[in-house]
Amino acid sequence: MLGGTFDPVHLGHLRSAVELRECLALDRVHMVPASMPPLRDEPSVTPEERLALLKLGIGNTPGLLADARELERAGPSYSADTLASLREEYGARAQLVMALGHDAFLRLAEWRTPERLFELAHLVVIDRPDHDAPLPEALVELIDRREVDSCEALFQSPAGRLLRLALPTRMAISATAVRRRLCAGSSVRYLLPEAVEARIHERALYRTH
Ligand code: ATP
Repeated sequence: MLGGTFDPVHLGHLRSAVELRECLALDRVHMVPASMPPLRDEPSVTPEERLALLKLGIGNTPGLLADARELERAGPSYSADTLASLREEYGARAQLVMALGHDAFLRLAEWRTPERLFELAHLVVIDRPDHDAPLPEALVELIDRREVDSCEALFQSPAGRLLRLALPTRMAISATAVRRRLCAGSSVRYLLPEAVEARIHERALYRTH
């Protein structure tokens, strides 16, 4: 699972999802837009529109899925609930991985019931350019004795371990920068899939802050 606001989806997300699938030999990557992200301001674009952009961005990419399950739940989108629903779908013995970028990882100890995430899945932290701040103390405690240094070690159990991964292509693209560019009328070509860019322009999305 790769969750996020996807406001909007960009090539940093999509390329990471493809490389994550290859590096860990995953059957599929569920990309799950948050309906109501608990730790940030309400996104400027509706969950349905962000999901539509994500579907366009994924197109027919093998192994990537736009997963609407957080839009089907009322209230804040907690990742633990999403993982619980994936666990139910795939069964107790499946290897489940929750992937997140280093910036999101830095705030993990602030999430609701972060220990529960490790009961339900492994965590894989993706290196992101410009996001290499040291870990806060609460996070160091949370991940104590969970870290492994290879995929083989990760997959010796169905959940509970942590792997930090430097994917082959690190892209310094953020949705914040994409939104700023759109708002300023600057080009976003090659930061997003063309179909996503076309829909954003068609619907005049992200024109204002
Ligand atoms: P924003 O700038 O609005 O905070 P974002 O670009 O970080 O957005 P999110 O939707 O918040 O995008 O990200 C979803 C997940 O993808 C997070 O775990 C985030 O760390 C990760 N991610 C986002 N951009 C990249 C990137 N360029 N490379 C690797 N991981 C990324």
